[in-house]
Amino acid sequence: MEFTYFDAHSHVQGSEYDRDRAELLTAMATEGIGTMTVGVDLASSRAAVALASAHAHVYAAVGQHPTDTDEPFAPDAFAAMARNARTVAVGECGLDYFRTDDVAAARAAQVPLFEAQIALAVAAQKPLMIHARPSTGTVDAYRELIDILKSAKREHGDALTGNVHFFVGGVDEARDLFDLDFTVSYTAVITFARDYDEVIRFAPLERILSETDSPYVAPAPHRGKRNDPRAVKTVVAALAGIRGEDEETVRAATLANAVRVFQLA
Ligand SMILES: [Zn+2]
Repeated sequence: MEFTYFDAHSHVQGSEYDRDRAELLTAMATEGIGTMTVGVDLASSRAAVALASAHAHVYAAVGQHPTDTDEPFAPDAFAAMARNARTVAVGECGLDYFRTDDVAAARAAQVPLFEAQIALAVAAQKPLMIHARPSTGTVDAYRELIDILKSAKREHGDALTGNVHFFVGGVDEARDLFDLDFTVSYTAVITFARDYDEVIRFAPLERILSETDSPYVAPAPHRGKRNDPRAVKTVVAALAGIRGEDEETVRAATLANAVRVFQLA
């Protein structure tokens, strides 16, 4: 189908949508809104592939979230799903030091899990959908992410690319990620927090994707309510306002960026 907007990161396979998913997907199709529904473990990744296989405007990402380190990683199961034609990214995977008091222990558990998924993405020739969240008041997870991506590119070649979702880093981290041919995506958090305006203005338009992270991060004035991918319109409008650019230009660019990065058919 022809898209008008693309929400590059949602979780519409989640149980939050069980009672009205069909209506939501129909409404999205009517408005030309596509999404990538993202797995965080084996079960949600399977559900993502199943949903994407049934709907032309839904694509899947398969992966294990960095804070999901209790469940052992199942490389063969994920490799099979990564090869599926409806899977357009491996993730969400990465580093999350926000929810821990023991960054060293988190790092020891999360780095091997992330590197296993980088290898999977390389093997399947799919981009990465990265989750990276630093410990409070630092950019530690971003600096480590950038180092890991640099050495992965040395090892696997420049074909490795992807997107860093819910980007909370600064201009320096953004610049390094763009140099590595990665994009960053923003949610409706930018409708009520001003912390990201500087980076949003700094970033070249071809490096920004729109996402909702639904069911999380509903835009103002609906904060705290269940979000859904239709809010991607609000995100695009907010990006345009912050950048001082025409909304139609930003809409077309964020859509084209998603099509390019994830090779959407
Ligand atoms: Zn997510």
